[in-house]
Amino acid sequence: MSNFREHTPKRRNIIKKVNSHGEHRKDLKTDYKDRCGYCNDLDNWRSIWFEIDHFIPQKRNKKQFLTIKTITDYTNLVYSCRSCNNAKRNKWPSNDEKVPNINNEGFIDPCEDEYKDQFNRLKNGRIKPNTDLGEWMYNAMKLYNPQHEILWNIEQVHILIIEIRDLVAKSPDDIDLMKRLIILYNTYDDYIQKLFKH
Ligand SMILES: [Zn+2]
Repeated sequence: MSNFREHTPKRRNIIKKVNSHGEHRKDLKTDYKDRCGYCNDLDNWRSIWFEIDHFIPQKRNKKQFLTIKTITDYTNLVYSCRSCNNAKRNKWPSNDEKVPNINNEGFIDPCEDEYKDQFNRLKNGRIKPNTDLGEWMYNAMKLYNPQHEILWNIEQVHILIIEIRDLVAKSPDDIDLMKRLIILYNTYDDYIQKLFKH
């Protein structure tokens, strides 16, 4: 088992006026280091699948939480993959927009350090909830969706490919290294094929 993620994303203090929250996309991608704030998927392989989530939803049970003014508020935006954004939707545990979680139900802002403590990463890349609140978020955002595990594995194999490729460049006659590289490329391709199915 390993850490859910290495770094907690931090939003810069961006106060520029925008007409639509979509105009913050580039800044969010930078601050979230190209990863979904909720599941930590890297956007390299699916950037068009990445969207912008309002941490406090726009409304819940017909009660409007966000106004035209706050809908573009950078402090409430999360760079999010489509899977997490779709699953989270307008879920919120209370009728108060200032109460994100109560009695182990609800959310923690992914830019808070304690977010990462709610989860671990199993050896096969699957996300595992660590706490009761983590379990609630795990189900609410469908963090069990297989693509998270697949993308995590693609990233790990890709890191290895780059390492071995550097070694092959230094020792082009090393047959064992070449064999390892071919095996890694095959594994990479297997995961990419799996990703297409999800
Ligand atoms: Zn996600």
